[in-house]
Amino acid sequence: MLPKSNIVYFDMCGIVGYIGSRDAFPILVKGLKRLEYRGYDSAGVALLSETNQLNVYKVKGKVSGLEEYVEGKDISGTIGIAHTRWATHGEPSQTNAHPHLSASGQLALIHNGIIENYTVLKEKLQKKGYTFKSSTDTEVLIQLIGYIKESGNFDLLTAVRLALKEVIGAYAIAVIDKNNPDEVIVARKSSPLVIGIGENEFFIASDATPIIEYTDQVVYLEDEDIAILRRGEPLKVVDFSNVELNLEVKTTELNLGQLEKGGFPHFMLKEIIEQPDCLKDCMRGRLRVQENEVILSAIIDHKDQLIQAKRFIIIACGTSWHAGLIGRQLLENFCRIPVQVEYASEFRYSNPVVGEGDVVIAISQSGETADTLAAVELARQKGAFIYGICNAVGSSIPRSTHTGSYIHVGPEIGVASTKAFTGQVTVLALLALTLAQVKGTISGEELKEILKELEVLPEKMKKALDANEQIAFLSKIFTYAHNFIYLGRGYNYPVALEGALKLKEISYIHAEGYPAAEMKHGPIALIDAEMPVVVIATRNSLYEKLLSNVQEIKARKGRAIAIVSEGDKTISGIADYSIELPETLEALDPLITTIPLQLMAYHIAVCKGKDVDHNPGIWQSQ
Ligand code: GLU
Repeated sequence: MLPKSNIVYFDMCGIVGYIGSRDAFPILVKGLKRLEYRGYDSAGVALLSETNQLNVYKVKGKVSGLEEYVEGKDISGTIGIAHTRWATHGEPSQTNAHPHLSASGQLALIHNGIIENYTVLKEKLQKKGYTFKSSTDTEVLIQLIGYIKESGNFDLLTAVRLALKEVIGAYAIAVIDKNNPDEVIVARKSSPLVIGIGENEFFIASDATPIIEYTDQVVYLEDEDIAILRRGEPLKVVDFSNVELNLEVKTTELNLGQLEKGGFPHFMLKEIIEQPDCLKDCMRGRLRVQENEVILSAIIDHKDQLIQAKRFIIIACGTSWHAGLIGRQLLENFCRIPVQVEYASEFRYSNPVVGEGDVVIAISQSGETADTLAAVELARQKGAFIYGICNAVGSSIPRSTHTGSYIHVGPEIGVASTKAFTGQVTVLALLALTLAQVKGTISGEELKEILKELEVLPEKMKKALDANEQIAFLSKIFTYAHNFIYLGRGYNYPVALEGALKLKEISYIHAEGYPAAEMKHGPIALIDAEMPVVVIATRNSLYEKLLSNVQEIKARKGRAIAIVSEGDKTISGIADYSIELPETLEALDPLITTIPLQLMAYHIAVCKGKDVDHNPGIWQSQ
C-alpha cells in the first residue's frame, strides 16, 4: 500500500512561520532544518523585532549559513516567516532568495510555487512605476499586494485576497506587515501548507515536520483558503470572497521519522509517486488546450532558427540520454527534422562535425553534468545554437546555453533519477509540438488530440501507480535474479534501456535493455528458465511484433513479465506475469510505461536490502 497522509507530495521547498510569545528565530531556523530534506538552494527569514523593525536576512546556500550570517544582528521578535527556496524564476542568489518586500518595505512575503502570469502582472506594475530588485515571480506578488493595499487603503487580508484573485499559478504564501506585529496572513493553492495550533501561538509550515514537536493540533489548508493568524484570537480561515470557512482541526499522529520523506520510506518512492503532480507543474502555463496551442516561452524568439536547423544533436548522459532518445523520435515524427543523440562524454572527445545551422539540445537534471557542460561549450565554440533542458534553475548549463526550458519537477533527492526523466520527456514533447505548429508539420486535429491527452495524462499516471502493490509482490519473486533483460520497441525502446539502468543502479543486478527485434540477433541465447525478461508490450502499432517476441521468450522457457494495456488478453495470456496500464497515445506512452519499471527497480532494491537513496559508488544519474 502507498503511504497515505494529507501531505501534497509535490514540494518546492520550505515555508515556516511563527506567531506567539516565544522567540521566533530559533523556531524558524529549526523548522527550516526539518524541511531540509526537500532540497533547496537558499534560505531567508523576516522578523518583526521588539523595536518594531522589519529585519530580513537571506543567504544563498544552507540554513547553517543563514545562522552564521545573522551572528551579531538583531534576531529578536515573536513573529516571523522563513523560507528555503528552490529557484524556479531567477538564479539562486541572495537577492532572489525569499522573503521579498513590497515597494514601501512594509510587507514581507515568502512563497513556494510558481506565479504563472507573473510577466503580465509585472508589466502592469511597471507601467505604474514599480521597479523590481529580483528576477523572481514572488516579488511580483508582494509588490502587487503592496500596490493594492496602498492604493485602496485596505487591510492586509483584503489586499492579499484581491491580489490572489488576479494570480494564476501555484502558491503557498505567508505575509507579515511591519505596521501590524500581531498578524500573519497565509494562503495556498496547489502547494502544501499546514498550520499548527498551540497555546496562544500558531506555527506555519509546508508539512507538519517543523510543527509536531510543539503541538499535535493541525489544520491542513485547502486550495484557495486564506488563513488569518492573530495573537489572542482563534484561527480563522476565509475564501477569496471573505466568507468564513469551517475549520477541521486534526490531531496528527505522525512522528518525525515518518514525516521526513513525506511519509515515504525513501525519497525514490516519494519522487516516483509525485510524478503526476510534477507532470502538471511541468506543463503549467505551457499547454493551452482551449486555444489548441503549446507555448514554450524559451523558443518564441528563436523559432525560425530552430525550424530552419539542418539537424538537431541531443547531448546528455545516463537517464537524460534515454530521455534524449525519446526526444529524437518525437522531434523526427512531429517536425521532420533529423536528430542524432550523443553521449556527452563521447561527443566532447570525438572531434565532432558540428557548427552553424546545427541546434544542440543539452539535457541535464542538475544542470552541472560535467561532460554535458563541456560538450555544450565545444558545440558553442563551433557555432551551434544551444537549447538546454534542465531542472536546477540558474545552474551552469542554463547559463551557458542560448535558450532553454526548465522541467519544473522540484528537487530530485533520491540518487536514481525518476521524476526528472518524465519531466525531460514532457518538455521534449512540448518542444516537438511547438516546433511542429510553427513548421506546419502537424495538423490542427492531431495537435488537439495530443494536447487533450497530455491534459489527462497526470490522471493516467496516477492509475499506472496503482500497480505499486502488485509490483512490490512481483519484486519479491525476482529478487533471486542475477540478470534481467528489458525489451521494447519504438517509443518504448528507450524506456527498456531506462528500466534496465534503474535496476542496475540501485539493485546491483545486471540488466540489459534491447530493442525487442534485436533479441534474435544474439541475446536470445541468454534466455532460460532463470532469466526474467520484461517486455513493454502496450497496445500500439508494434503490438503484433512484441507478441512474437513474448512467444520466443516462452519457447525458451524464459520468465516473461509483460507491461500491457488495460484489458489486454493476448500477451497477458502467454506471459508469466502482466502489469496493466492505462492506454495513451503511442508518442506519449513512455510517460506511462516508465512508471512500473521505476517501481520494479525500487522494490527489488528494497527487497535486496540496498540503500536505495544513497548509492555512494555512483554519481547521481543526470
Ligand atoms: N517561484 C519562486 C522563486 O523562484 C518560489 C520557488 C520556491 O518554491 O521555492 O523564487
